[in-house]
Amino acid sequence: MTRLRALPRAHLIAGICLLALVLYPVINPWNPYPQGVLLLGFLLAIQASSWNIISGYGGYTSLGHSMFLGLGSYTAGILALRWGVNPLWVAPLGGVTALVIAVVIGSVVLRTRGHAFVIITIAMLLAAQILAANFKSLTQGSDGITLQLPFWGRDFQNIPFYYAFLGLLVLTVLFSAWLRRTKFGAGLVAIREDEGKAASIGVNTTRFKIVAYAASAFMIGTAGGVYAYYLTFINPVGSFAILGSVTIVLATLTGGRGTLYGPVIGAFIVNLVSEESTVYGGGSQSRVLIFGVALMLVVLFLPRGILPTAEAWWRKHHPVEVEYTDQAGALSGGPLTTYERTREPAAEDRPLLEVRGVSKRFGGLTAVDNADLVVQPGTITALIGPNGSGKTTLFNLITGGMTADSGEIWFDGKRIDGMRPWNRGHLGLGRTYQVTRLFKDMTVQQNVVAPLPDSRWRTMFAGAVHGHEAARARDLLDIVGLGRMADQPAGALSYGQQKLVELAQVLMLQPRLILLDEPAGGVNPSLLGRLTEVIRELNRSGVTFLIVEHNIPLVLELCDPVVVFSRGAAIAEGPPERIQQDPIVLDAYLGDDWRPAESATPASGKVVQ
Ligand code: ADP
Ligand code: MG
Repeated sequence: MTRLRALPRAHLIAGICLLALVLYPVINPWNPYPQGVLLLGFLLAIQASSWNIISGYGGYTSLGHSMFLGLGSYTAGILALRWGVNPLWVAPLGGVTALVIAVVIGSVVLRTRGHAFVIITIAMLLAAQILAANFKSLTQGSDGITLQLPFWGRDFQNIPFYYAFLGLLVLTVLFSAWLRRTKFGAGLVAIREDEGKAASIGVNTTRFKIVAYAASAFMIGTAGGVYAYYLTFINPVGSFAILGSVTIVLATLTGGRGTLYGPVIGAFIVNLVSEESTVYGGGSQSRVLIFGVALMLVVLFLPRGILPTAEAWWRKHHPVEVEYTDQAGALSGGPLTTYERTREPAAEDRPLLEVRGVSKRFGGLTAVDNADLVVQPGTITALIGPNGSGKTTLFNLITGGMTADSGEIWFDGKRIDGMRPWNRGHLGLGRTYQVTRLFKDMTVQQNVVAPLPDSRWRTMFAGAVHGHEAARARDLLDIVGLGRMADQPAGALSYGQQKLVELAQVLMLQPRLILLDEPAGGVNPSLLGRLTEVIRELNRSGVTFLIVEHNIPLVLELCDPVVVFSRGAAIAEGPPERIQQDPIVLDAYLGDDWRPAESATPASGKVVQ
């Protein structure tokens, strides 16, 4: 949680505010009005903090989140009437209803990526309103449900609600803080930054998104039960209001999406504005207008929200001493012998990877054309060929970023072409990207610990950066020579260093096979030696490699066998000595002027494009 560290004493300030809020009704018990304003602020803060889990951490914007408040209200209201109990006692069941509905909706919508989710959330809110209006036997239609008045005296009317909402708010913030510190929270941020990459390092993105959506619904549903009792009346239009959803979004954006305290701060501000506009502006009509304008102003002038903007200001005026190492400094890495392998070695008697007749078309272009490829365990296999010959596309098909039109892919004796990317990762298939895809908002170390080795719930809710694993991440960073950069933001590293961090990241998966897409591309020659050394050392400790690379001397020195790709299929395969003299290869890729003797060292080698 680098954000919190940047604003020191954030928890302390929050604690003092909480204490003041706890004491306030004790000091001033006789005036219910400010209590009423504050408790609505708590309610909005509960909703904004919860919304922040799916839409702030996870980056999936829900525009119908007030639906869960309505679902909670109706659940508690209906049960209270039927069972003749106080709605407060059944309020948690409102949370359960919200959670179940979120899981159902999420399971349908969140399987895919992108904007469908936003639209569906609004549609669901409106559908809930229509259902509540028409399902009269259960909801009493648009007449609404009237509940009994609170059993306590009118003089103290607001105080129990005040504490109930404040309690729920504290629970929500603690829940959100805990989630953010788990692998689950880190995975949500990874999904927000780069969903495809997250999936390739073992994050079960579908499950993460559904759980986040459900987690963001539960507290709101519970609060909805309490709210029903506070209002003593619920009806479809009031309970499933689009304005409620907009207010949640506005509050979180104002305070700072994706931060812990931002949604709470935003909620207090928005609630105050809302209250003032009701008092002085003539009711809810003006509120719509004011909120619309406010949303526009926030998006235009405070795109990151108050808290992140304040943090940026703080950092600017209280700069932390950062120690940057140059690339040469990175070469003084630790010994290479620390790579620890816990996965069983792959079977020796069969290919580790087998691609059989795989094709992939993009419209009229056949990028991969009935390709076959075999990678034997223990090898460093090269895949070379001209730009556009389909090498990266083949990598995408193997790791699951894209699905093949036809053909089969087998890994370690299992057919994997139908598997989701994270399942392939869990089998021990790792990759790096031609253009590195680190999570730029995370530190180097957070990047390295982001991969998930399996799908277990226990792994998912373990600490994001915990003891043994944090130490292992440091070891891996030492292996690639970047241990000193562990706490730097990943975006601050040079391109070559980012490539090495991506390698360390994929090593966290304990892969059997690593696919490297142009690992030397854009890497400073001084880092290249390190890279070669690391690949060799890892190979000796049992990791198999498939490497796409244009630096031919490096390929010839490091790899055996070499596979040559042209127009979407392999045209030659064999040991490096034979490949560099193969007339077909010279013709299709290396060119007639290619002479291996031209360059002796890989670092100064000829790069064929
Ligand atoms: P290589 O990695 O060998 O340079 P690629 O696999 O990146 O080649 O690309 C192979 C061909 O497929 C190129 O012509 C490229 O333009 C095309 N291609 C790759 N990805 C896509 C995509 N997502 N959509 C459309 N065309 C693509
Ligand atoms: Mg490529």
